[in-house]
Amino acid sequence: MKFKELGLSEDLLKAVTTAGYEEATPIQAETIPMVLAGQDVIGQAQTGTGKTAAFALPILEKIDKNNPNVQALVVSPTRELAIQTQEEIYKLGRNERANVQVVYGGADIRRQIKSLKNHPQVIVGTPGRLLDHIRRRTLKLDHVQMLVLDEADEMLNMGFLDDIEDIIKQLPEARQTMLFSATMPPEIKRVGVQFMKEPKHVKIKAKELTTDLIDQFYVRARDFEKFDVMTRFFDVQSPDLTIVFTRTKRRVDEISNGLQARGYNAAGIHGDLTQKRRTQIMNQFRHGKLDILVATDVAARGIDINDVTHVYNYDIPQDPDSYVHRVGRTGRAGKHGVSMTFVTPNEMDYLREIEKLTKVRMLPLKPPSDEEALVSQLGAAKDKVTDLVNKTDTEKFAKTAEALLNEFDAEDLVAALLNDLTKDDSSQVPVKITPERPLPKRGGKRHGGGGYHRGGGNHRRNGNGGGYRQRQDRRGGDRDRHGSRSHDSRNHGGGDRNRHSNNGGRRSEGGRGFTIRKKD
Ligand code: ADP
Ligand code: MG
Repeated sequence: MKFKELGLSEDLLKAVTTAGYEEATPIQAETIPMVLAGQDVIGQAQTGTGKTAAFALPILEKIDKNNPNVQALVVSPTRELAIQTQEEIYKLGRNERANVQVVYGGADIRRQIKSLKNHPQVIVGTPGRLLDHIRRRTLKLDHVQMLVLDEADEMLNMGFLDDIEDIIKQLPEARQTMLFSATMPPEIKRVGVQFMKEPKHVKIKAKELTTDLIDQFYVRARDFEKFDVMTRFFDVQSPDLTIVFTRTKRRVDEISNGLQARGYNAAGIHGDLTQKRRTQIMNQFRHGKLDILVATDVAARGIDINDVTHVYNYDIPQDPDSYVHRVGRTGRAGKHGVSMTFVTPNEMDYLREIEKLTKVRMLPLKPPSDEEALVSQLGAAKDKVTDLVNKTDTEKFAKTAEALLNEFDAEDLVAALLNDLTKDDSSQVPVKITPERPLPKRGGKRHGGGGYHRGGGNHRRNGNGGGYRQRQDRRGGDRDRHGSRSHDSRNHGGGDRNRHSNNGGRRSEGGRGFTIRKKD
């Protein structure tokens, strides 16, 4: 749904465009009009679905910028989330010069008191520090018209329920209350009943990972090995339409440049590119003019493409939810998909965490050797040559062909052709990816990571209780150890090669459809 249709002012629509949001997410599309209409709203949608803007935009629309009182209060569970939320509201409200301040514990209170004197209209804060300011009378809440309890399930997990009640007691009765959460345990519903007025419930169904349709693999590799290992997998698996996810913008640039240098049809998107450029690249990808899209999680957020055959997690995501988002880009609309996750030796705990959430065990794959990659490439090149021979009108080229045959050996000519049809390998075009700081070693505890990892528990599962077992049983199935059907030349004439290829005819001439093992 377009933001334009939601009843927001021009200033806000501009800010939304500047932020790079093309379309409203489902939770935004449903809740923004309700909040604008003055209703109390309980919004439930999984992590990363844009709940912040769902309340930030209508708040910014409704506050009176000429009124110096605090008119909206957002309660956040952690310092990190409070800061992020303040930043997002500030960013979206910049055109209107909305004054948004954040308060959280563990930081100099005098500085916060000073900033509270600057007449903020919107306050974001963690419960403890908010109460602290209330008690010191450095924060006056008697003009608050809108209250948001954000990430309510997390606040509950952290034992903030009493604090929240104390805060709510300071607010005017006549106010609008919104509650946002990824999950909805009964205690939260009780908060809704107790402190809200006939709240409207909006629940966006979590996208389920259609795990039956996605073969999920992992590959152990050191950081500096990943690029070469990945390209060798490309050669062996011949993916059709691929997204490569990575952690940083710099990596997006380096990997897409490296892939181009090796002869792959790849491009990267991240937040530093202009909206126009991003749209351009997305359209190329959507229309199959680009084989490989390299992206950060954030840049890939709006991507809605059905034919993605492979997702490569060049860097394992820190948050298991992100994994589900990433991998959910493939295996759509009843088609098969493959996901490959690279894991450095010290990141194995992250892998296990993901498996806990998805209830699916990823199968380990051994990196193919350069030799094996070449064999696969040559197989594909041979197919391509066969295809070319079949569709070439020999008559037309006979004269030049004869001239070339007079000059060169037939074998040399064909070898040159094959060389042209295969990608350069690491020895011909070395690519070096700048090392990034590895993920912190996991403590094992849910909230121990220091960041704001929100486990979210079992709110999203694959709905397939047998998934785990089934996967285990399939170990040692007929798949070879690179996750593809054997790509040696014997198999190449075989008619069954494209049995499950997802290319929908788009690239049939290249024969690059990757065959996925038939499910039994
Ligand atoms: P949640 O609170 O649901 O976990 P956030 O509000 O933190 O999610 O949003 C996650 C990310 O999505 C943020 O980086 C945000 O800037 C981005 N985002 C929000 N709305 C949109 C949109 N309509 N289109 C694209 N990205 C969006
Ligand atoms: Mg949020």
